[in-house]
Amino acid sequence: MIRDYISARWIKTNKVYTETSEKQVYYFSMEFLLGRILNTNLINTGLLDTCQTALAELGIDLAGLEQQEPDAGLGNGGLGRLAACFLDSMAALGLPGHGTGIRYKYGLFEQRIVDQQQVELPDNWLKDGYIWEYRKADKAVTVKFGGTVQMRRINGRLTFEHSGFEAVRAVPYDVPIIGYGNNTVNTLRLWNAEPIQAEFDLACFNRGEYLKAVEYKHWVERVSMILYPDDNYDEGRSLRLRQQYFFVSAGVQSIIRRFKKTGLPIRQLADKVAIHINDTHPAVAIPELMRILLDEEGLSWDAAWDITTRTVSYTNHTIMPEALEKWPEVMFKAQLPRIYLIVEEINKRYCNEVLTKCFCRQEQLAGIAIIAGGNINMAHLAVVGSHSVNGVAAIHTEILKKHLLQPFYQLHPGKFNNKTNGITHRRWLIKANPGLARLLNDTIGECWIKHPGDLINVLQYRDDPAFKQQIAAVKQHNKALLASYIKNKYGLTIDPCAIFDVQIKRIHAYKRQLLNIFHIMDLYNRLRQDPACDIVPRTFIFAGKAAPGYYIAKQVIKLINMLAEQINRDPVIREKIKVVFLENYSVSLGELVFPAADVSEQISTASKEASGTGNMKFMMNGALTIGTLDGANVEIKNAVGAENIFIFGLTAEEVMTFYRQGGYSVWDVYNKDERLKTILNQLINGSVRGAQEEFRSLYDSLLYNNDEYFVLKDFSAYVDAQTLLDNAFRDQAGWLGSSIHNIAKAGIFSSDRSIREYADDIWKIRPVIIPG
Ligand SMILES: *Cc1c(COP(=O)(O)O)cnc(C)c1O
Repeated sequence: MIRDYISARWIKTNKVYTETSEKQVYYFSMEFLLGRILNTNLINTGLLDTCQTALAELGIDLAGLEQQEPDAGLGNGGLGRLAACFLDSMAALGLPGHGTGIRYKYGLFEQRIVDQQQVELPDNWLKDGYIWEYRKADKAVTVKFGGTVQMRRINGRLTFEHSGFEAVRAVPYDVPIIGYGNNTVNTLRLWNAEPIQAEFDLACFNRGEYLKAVEYKHWVERVSMILYPDDNYDEGRSLRLRQQYFFVSAGVQSIIRRFKKTGLPIRQLADKVAIHINDTHPAVAIPELMRILLDEEGLSWDAAWDITTRTVSYTNHTIMPEALEKWPEVMFKAQLPRIYLIVEEINKRYCNEVLTKCFCRQEQLAGIAIIAGGNINMAHLAVVGSHSVNGVAAIHTEILKKHLLQPFYQLHPGKFNNKTNGITHRRWLIKANPGLARLLNDTIGECWIKHPGDLINVLQYRDDPAFKQQIAAVKQHNKALLASYIKNKYGLTIDPCAIFDVQIKRIHAYKRQLLNIFHIMDLYNRLRQDPACDIVPRTFIFAGKAAPGYYIAKQVIKLINMLAEQINRDPVIREKIKVVFLENYSVSLGELVFPAADVSEQISTASKEASGTGNMKFMMNGALTIGTLDGANVEIKNAVGAENIFIFGLTAEEVMTFYRQGGYSVWDVYNKDERLKTILNQLINGSVRGAQEEFRSLYDSLLYNNDEYFVLKDFSAYVDAQTLLDNAFRDQAGWLGSSIHNIAKAGIFSSDRSIREYADDIWKIRPVIIPG
């Protein structure tokens, strides 16, 4: 019904975009972590109440019905969820903006905990069909891999002839992205890889080439089969490069085809089209656009380069070396021979330009070369081929300018800008926390829904005892819902009056789940020594997936689960602390957990978390943050003030100074801190019940591998901050005031704000009104 309801608007939206020939943006991303969209589509169309009432009359519970929708998990974590929030905001603001990605047959694996360890199950999300997608077979395009390129001079012009390639048919599946309270319906176009012929060629079969035909079919289908399950890590696998070029080439071809229908000359492309690349994964869009402009449109290099760089813009998402993409030249050249030649030429011209412009020596090019040491540096390609490079939080952008991309910043300061991430308040507040949304409507009116900055109006109720009681009641209700989920699923009873202290995010050494665990172990040790020890009861909640090949992260999951088993059953500590690991963190699980949290754990090693968006979801739902001055935590602190957040630990500058000095003295810290010494020894001396030698690797990574993420160094500051937090929670009036303060200041972290900035500063696009 919703599909039918919006289909006329969808057609109308495309018609208006074509007729007005307004500039449109295409957001290229390897990941879109949509989650379920029935409920948010109902919110956005304004049909939620009507449908709820009508279904209730039929004896159908909408919430139960919603569970039938697969959670579209075409992403790993923050980067993919950002792309989904951005699509929602573009449509809500009436901006002509679309998504371009891959229709993975298998999304991110489903996580189960078996014998306290992570087990991965395939996410066959399409098995019963996906109600929101529309296959557009007539819009298919061809993408070519491998083969050889012949250069020829014909009538004085260089031409490039690509032969011996393998061809893949890229078929788009379109998903409608419905605007809130307007008539806009934008498009998320997901590309599916198929053999050129629908079924393998019968002629082949007859010639006895049956096996070859089947092999080809399987080779093709692998391209859009799986999402690589690594977050903030570069696997460097050739299939991954194939995936990147597959969706980028298909996406760029379909943009050009659409543009050419306007009849405008190709030279005006950048006036009508913006292509945004989400991290370097789609950076081959730069040479691919060059290829089309040179080889198919017949433009000169300079004209093509001018158009390309004015069209493309790039967001950097990380400074961690292990996450930066570098493709071996040999692999790249074999897979994409024509694209390789273009990258080589871009590199040659750029290096020459820099040499003449700044009179530097050949050796100094190392910091900017796109091809060096046998690798293609995709971040360098992205910076050189874009007119805009942005970081995702103020501190991250500063680090890009001062460190990772410093030589580029020297050369092109005007390219660099910051766009702090955001989250859609429609999903993360209105959908996830209807109780809070209702209370806000009753208190400050509904303006905040269209203008999330208006959340500031609740600040005047910060010290209003009646409002505080209402806020407390909403939180209590959400905590009871989560407690009942945990009871049903795991048979574990948790007290909804305890502090719900939550860390949900991918499991990664830099996010420091270990630091959180060490605080729990320390509390447990204190309670064992003195069961009367006066602490506020706390439930520590974890959720998050580890990449299947990431051993240390999987050991962290195991440690959490083993400690949970031991602590939750220990009669001595009398239920003062509990530990829960929730399986299968996903968008839908997040919608249950964020609204129930009292405490948001954002404790990454300073400088490592580019922005974080989980931090914003917690804040918007009234949780208080305990965290380092990293990513958007810095801006959260500036927004709420130091009194309404718990900041601790090394700063990014301090961390980077230690790195330059080769680390810090781990053993000094170990020897001076008895509590830390106890905890570390407990990892390997059998104190963790059921564990023998399994946590030696964690122990060694801290003590014998230089504690790369400063877990030990930040431990005492973290414990002190936790003690302050415990005290603060005892003053419920004060705590609720801070909670209200966080909600009031959350408006700037709506992705509507982020997207307005992208639209105004980078894309130069304007809202287009779609008539009803
Ligand atoms: C928001 C979100 C993330 C990102 O969380 P961070 O704490 O910023 O790392 C990851 N996964 C899911 C499912 C999310 O909703």
